[in-house]
Amino acid sequence: MHPNDLSLRSFVAVDPRSDFPIQNLPYGVFSTASQPAPRIGVAIGEYVLDLAALASAGLLEVAGDNVFAQGAINGFMALGLQTWSATRARISELLRHDNAELRDDAALRARALVPLHEATLHLPLTVAGFTDFYSSKEHASNVGALFRDNADPLLPNWLHIPIGYNGRASTVVVSGTAIRRPHGQLKEPGEAAPRFAQSLRLDFELEIGVVIGQGSAIGERLTEPQAEAMIFGFVLLNDWSARDIQQWEYVPLGPFQGKAFATSISPWIVTREALEPFRVAGPAQHPPPLDYLAQAGPNNYDLALEVELRSATMPAPATICATNFKFMYWSSVQQLLHHASSGCAMNVGDLLGSGTVSGPGPGQRGSLLEISANGAAPLALPGGESRGFLEDGDSVSLRGWCERDGIRIGFGAVEGTVRAAK
Ligand code: CA
Repeated sequence: MHPNDLSLRSFVAVDPRSDFPIQNLPYGVFSTASQPAPRIGVAIGEYVLDLAALASAGLLEVAGDNVFAQGAINGFMALGLQTWSATRARISELLRHDNAELRDDAALRARALVPLHEATLHLPLTVAGFTDFYSSKEHASNVGALFRDNADPLLPNWLHIPIGYNGRASTVVVSGTAIRRPHGQLKEPGEAAPRFAQSLRLDFELEIGVVIGQGSAIGERLTEPQAEAMIFGFVLLNDWSARDIQQWEYVPLGPFQGKAFATSISPWIVTREALEPFRVAGPAQHPPPLDYLAQAGPNNYDLALEVELRSATMPAPATICATNFKFMYWSSVQQLLHHASSGCAMNVGDLLGSGTVSGPGPGQRGSLLEISANGAAPLALPGGESRGFLEDGDSVSLRGWCERDGIRIGFGAVEGTVRAAK
């Protein structure tokens, strides 16, 4: 049976509301107090399945040395699509309710099934390069209206090119990492000269990150099927942004220090294969993209996304955005096609940010910049506080999931709490 089959059940009890049923099997890197060396596992219900332990026991074979006994998933990703698929099928088989290999081996089960609350989750990959795109038409229009021109918010290239910039791999951090408020060069519109000070317009951006699992050579352009086959999976991504730094620096070369201080990703990489049942066509593209960006198939995903904000004094988080990845104008495949179109080499472990995911509705804006109209209309929070931008002590959580027939292919969360500037 295919690992995406909805009738599959695991001998590991999985709550129906869990993000991690047997049809998901997202990859992460974890360690435990008793075994502090980071290694690769998949999430199943409230457990992490230790793939290094399964490989040592001879139940999970892949080429080469034990690629699962490593602190990053890059070595496994480098083995390619057929290995990814065969490994996922084998893990699914080992977790099935009617397979005795692991189910009836109590000693191995005790070693290989680690309760999630006992696991420390690490950055799941060594990020080779980080590129961030700007592919939501709603987001680009909202930001263009606030930063530039309300009547004509999209620049003339936007409908032709998946706009992007090269970000910093060095500051990609895993969920739970505190985010230090950055300093930078600021110049408010009314001020005569810039000054160096802490950012007062700190923001989040709701994004999906694409994890590239196969490289391409310098000078090589990609076809749509090649680009597809290079995508290993997806993570939740918060592209923290200092709007005051960004607004002063971004002309003419785009964002730099306003985005370089931190990017948070979720600890679990949901495979492209697990998301296959949720493929949908994206918005109609007018004018039609140039041939090298043409898509034969639907490359968007029906993937629900939410943002929760909790201040230091709020007893519970408030949901401040609920949108969907399916609204993205440029797909991840088109972003990758464009990225390699000049002959730019792609590497195993490259991370491509989708760009802020905003939808057409008022509750579907994926940044405070948009929600508060650049601070002009602060967001009211339960309990009486309001926010134009993030305050110290604020915690932001992004969540995402696909769902059909009561089975949820979820991403868990990516959380970060703002700490005072140094
Ligand atoms: Ca961004």
